[in-house]
Amino acid sequence: MLKNEIERVLTNAERLNDQLGSFLSIERGHALGRAEAIEDAAGELPLRGLAIAIKDNICTKDIRTSCGSRILANYTAHYDATAVQRLNAAGAVTIGKTNMDEFAMGSSNENSAFGPARNPWDPERVPGGSSGGSAVAVASGVVDVALGSETGGSVRQPAALCGIYGLKPTYGRISRYGLVAFASSLDAIGIFGSSAGKIADVLGIIAGRDPLDSTSADVAVPDYSAMLDRSLAGKRIGVPRAFFGEGLDEEVRAAVDASIENLRSLGCEVVDVELPHAKYGIAVYYIIATAEASSNLARYDGVRYGVRAEDAHELRQMYFKTREEGFGPEVKRRIMLGTYVLSSGYYDAYYAKAQKVRALVRDDYAAAFANCDFVLTPTSPTTAFRMGERSDDPLAMYLSDIYTVSANLAGLPAISIPCGLSSESLPIGVQLVGNYWAEGELLNAANIYGTEHPLDAKPLIHAE
Ligand code: GLN
Repeated sequence: MLKNEIERVLTNAERLNDQLGSFLSIERGHALGRAEAIEDAAGELPLRGLAIAIKDNICTKDIRTSCGSRILANYTAHYDATAVQRLNAAGAVTIGKTNMDEFAMGSSNENSAFGPARNPWDPERVPGGSSGGSAVAVASGVVDVALGSETGGSVRQPAALCGIYGLKPTYGRISRYGLVAFASSLDAIGIFGSSAGKIADVLGIIAGRDPLDSTSADVAVPDYSAMLDRSLAGKRIGVPRAFFGEGLDEEVRAAVDASIENLRSLGCEVVDVELPHAKYGIAVYYIIATAEASSNLARYDGVRYGVRAEDAHELRQMYFKTREEGFGPEVKRRIMLGTYVLSSGYYDAYYAKAQKVRALVRDDYAAAFANCDFVLTPTSPTTAFRMGERSDDPLAMYLSDIYTVSANLAGLPAISIPCGLSSESLPIGVQLVGNYWAEGELLNAANIYGTEHPLDAKPLIHAE
């Protein structure tokens, strides 16, 4: 029976992939083999037979991990990421690896070296990024849960654009071991779900200390599923009004305002908060993330990982050719930006200053949480944009991240909750940011909200 269920999931994944491009690989043989093994396995498996999709920058033993890049087109890790290893031990079944912006750099999935993923609500539009493929796999009903990664909004933004739930946990909540590094002080594994409950099931399994990641925290993992149904009465929602400014689409603003009223009628108290430095979030993020990326991506030299350029006649030429041919334009732009902000003479003006402002962003949140339980903002300033619309304007693309990046800079947990549809039937998401380790409270709020105010619509392209 389990095998039949996995067979059904695989068939849906294969059937929709031509239209949606959400998977870079669909692992039929692996998944059916796992289904068989799990069917016969004795003992309790908390996620027995749960079909899951994994972003292609999370290492999987014997399954390719390309990071959406030509330079890793032939790379297969010889170990599982800790999150994957824990999912497997709990009985989950990996269906395939999902499409993404190259090295997780992007907000639309158009930076994938293997072609874009498409939004199932309107395939002429982007699903968001960088974890677009995982968002689409869930939104199109192929799987109920998928792993993504966040450096600056890459789970929450596509979740919002695709009408599903997306959680970025506290930095250090889930081990990064086996998550290919982009910007290590910001990177986190995140979870997409068709409901908050599905995310809770998976988070409970993969969260927690891992000796293989020194930045994973030794903080007890609560029973998230047991927290889902608590009343929201008396919860204080902080709204940073001054931050709802330029570039915010009117329909998004209206849907987010309506969600504030809905929370009020669920018993929440709405209070004003200020995040005076949040407006610098994009500038700070694109300095720190690129600086760290320029260092992390130095390892792709054609020697240790992935593809090596042919016909190079000496070592330096081999490095140059490999990186020239292997990386796409956005990745090159980031490496150049990052190298520049770290270079002597500019380091203090850019990188060091950005680190100082990062501390101020964190302090803003600390002050806000003295007065509220959650900070509420839109997740994305707009609904899903058309493919190609922002491709020639990196700055317009970077501005998609205005509401999401500050939680990454501060290391705080945050969730995107579907809160409505635009007049063009495109999903809108509202974001709640919680205090450190408040994943349970966020999932609780998302669950109550989603139960009382479900989206009640399905995308155009959907599994059977
Ligand atoms: N859009 C952001 C970027 O391009 C976020 C990426 C991410 O969170 N991985 O860097």
